[in-house]
Order: sequence, then structure tokens, then C-alpha cells
Amino acid sequence: MQPCQSLERISDCAGETALTRVLNKGNTYQYVFHKPNPLMQGFYLMLVIGGFALFVQFGLPLLPNRRLGYFHVVFPFVFVLWVLLTFVAASNSPPGYVTAKNAALLERVYKYDGFLFVRQECSTCKTPKVARSKHCRMMGRCVEKYDHYCPWINNTVGGLNFRYFLLFVLSTAVFLVYGTYVIYNLLMFIIERDRLWDVKFMNTGTNELVKANWMIIFQFMMAHHGMLMFLLVLCAIMGITLVAFFIYQLYLIKNGTTSNEAQKWADVKDFYASKKWEREQAARGPDFPSDAELLRDTSAPLAERMVKEFPSKPPTNIYNLGFWENMKDVIWPASLEMKRVWLKIQEGKEKAGAAQQANKASEASSSSAGQTPSSATSTPSVASKDKRPTGRGKSGSKKKA
Ligand SMILES: [Zn+2]
Repeated sequence: MQPCQSLERISDCAGETALTRVLNKGNTYQYVFHKPNPLMQGFYLMLVIGGFALFVQFGLPLLPNRRLGYFHVVFPFVFVLWVLLTFVAASNSPPGYVTAKNAALLERVYKYDGFLFVRQECSTCKTPKVARSKHCRMMGRCVEKYDHYCPWINNTVGGLNFRYFLLFVLSTAVFLVYGTYVIYNLLMFIIERDRLWDVKFMNTGTNELVKANWMIIFQFMMAHHGMLMFLLVLCAIMGITLVAFFIYQLYLIKNGTTSNEAQKWADVKDFYASKKWEREQAARGPDFPSDAELLRDTSAPLAERMVKEFPSKPPTNIYNLGFWENMKDVIWPASLEMKRVWLKIQEGKEKAGAAQQANKASEASSSSAGQTPSSATSTPSVASKDKRPTGRGKSGSKKKA
């Protein structure tokens, strides 16, 4: 039997044995959990479009009413389109890949802090591991200001598309809160319209007539308006979750960390807390864990830097410029600005090159005359553009192509 090269190729292998059956299951597992796939995107669309269809079928006929005006007949349609638009934007926007071509440029935007990030090479891509970047195993590429891979949008969230991701989360969160508000009011409208508080309900077990209370009304609504009740619970639970998630994202922005870095800083904090504890214990007697023992759970190079270069407390996060500056970098990423300027420079260089070539050609053709100043006029335009690239990077040196 032909030996299998990898899990991806396992279905190509000859003959199915008990082992390959297990491994083939592993293949599905690999696809679902370790490969970019649209399963969660489909699930998201099913929830939003399916939920909205239920609203149109069961909620819309009750609108407008005493509680909700005409606005709520039209607005849900506009809102759901907006949410789907942010979903498409977040799913399709590139996170900003680090390549051999742009690494030098990105290194100007993202300085190494010498602590979490030191200059090294990505072992997979062989490109410089720019500060704040990380090799995304799902995409198989290095991503600038790597945040995380989001299965809901089947995309990696990085420096360039974090803003779309944030907009998507915010839009979906507000949409769900709004949905909760509308459906709650629809249900309250039904209770008022049918005067459920005034009617008497019959206990089917004892045939007794009982006065309405919240429990009885709840049971009645579940039996007669189950879909709206289901939508209320769905919107409320998902709404609370997403609002909390959005607040967490704001908290990370306030701290000037990506989700990826937040994890690292949490490890660092734990380490220094345990070191402090160690010192306190050491004051009482010997036989307490050494640095080496404390390092066991932390990733080795970072831990070594902690002990050697920052023995008493961790350095401050140099990427934290304060909430508004951090937010500005999310909405208008510095690397994007840098790339824009770089492209302009390239364009300028190309134009200058073309102009020079054209000049040379015209010189050659009119070789009789003694005109030479053309190249002198084309180069300064490049030089003047060369001075502009620093942008928010504040590294006022010259550009490298
Ligand atoms: Zn890489």
C-alpha cells in the first residue's frame, strides 16, 4: 500500500483500512477546524437571513401599531442590508500580508519593542517577522498587526481590516439589540391587544378558572406566538454576547494590544506576579522555585528576555499611544498610509524613469542640437516625493524601494 504523505492527501491513498478511516475522519476534522472554510459564514447567514425571514412572516403583519410606528416597518430592511454589507466587507478585506517586498516598509511602521517582538525571520515564509505580525496558520501567510482568525467571516483579522471587523461586530450587535427591542414591543403589543391581563385562563388539569399572572401569560405566548418568543430569546442572547465582545474589543484598543498580544501580556503579567511571590517566599527561606522553573510554562525566548533584560518588572507597551491614537490607527492604519505614499513614490519613479527614457530617445533623435537639461528637470520631482513617506511612522529617513 502506498504510504500517505499528509492528511490532505489521505483520500488518494490506496485501500481503506481501519487506520485510514480514522485518519479520513481526521481529514474532515482538519477541514473544519484547521482550514479556512465557509461553514461558519453559512451559519451566520442562516441566522441573520433566517431570523429576518421569521420576523417578516410573524412580526411585520403586526406593524405599525400603538407601540411601534411606520419607521419600524421600513428600518429593519435597511438595517439588515447594512449588516450584510459589513459582513461582506469584513469577509473579503485583506488583513495586510507581510511579504518580502513590503517587510522593510512595514518595519518602519511597526517598531520592534525588543521584548514581545525582536527582529527575526518567519520560519515558514522566510520573510522578516515584522513587529506585531504573526504567521497565520489558517491562511499560511504572515499578517501585519495580527489579531486573530475569525471563523464567522472566514478571514484573518489584521492591521488593514480590523476596522471592517469592528464595524461588522458593532453593526451586528446594534442590530440584535434593536431586534430585541422591536420583538419585545411586538409581544407586549399582543398582550395588550388581547387583554391577556383581564381574561381568565382555564387550568386544563382541574378545569379551574385562574387569574392571569406572568407565568401563565408566558406559557400562553410560548404556545401561540412561539416564533416571536424564539426570536426574542435569540436576539437577546446573541445581542448581549456581541455587545460584550464589542466592549472587549474597545478594551483591547484602549490597552493598545491586539487579541494576540493581549494573550502574551497576560502571560507576562502572570510571570511577574509569580516572580514577586517567589521573592517574598525567598525572603522567608531557601528551597523556592528558581527563574528557570518559573519559566517552564512560558514560551522560552520571551521568558528569557524577561529574566535577562527586565528582571524586576516588564517594560511598558510601546504600542499603546492612548485610546484615541490607538483608535485612529484602527480606523486609518498607519501602514495603509505608508503603503499609499510608497505607491506614489513608485509611481513617481516610474514616471521619472519613463520621462528619462523619452528624453534620451529625443536626445538621440535630435543629436545635432546641444540640449541636455531634460533629465535634470525630471529627477527633482522624485527627490521631493522621497521626503514625504514618513507619515505617522515618524522615521524621518529616506525611502527604500
Ligand atoms: Zn509567515
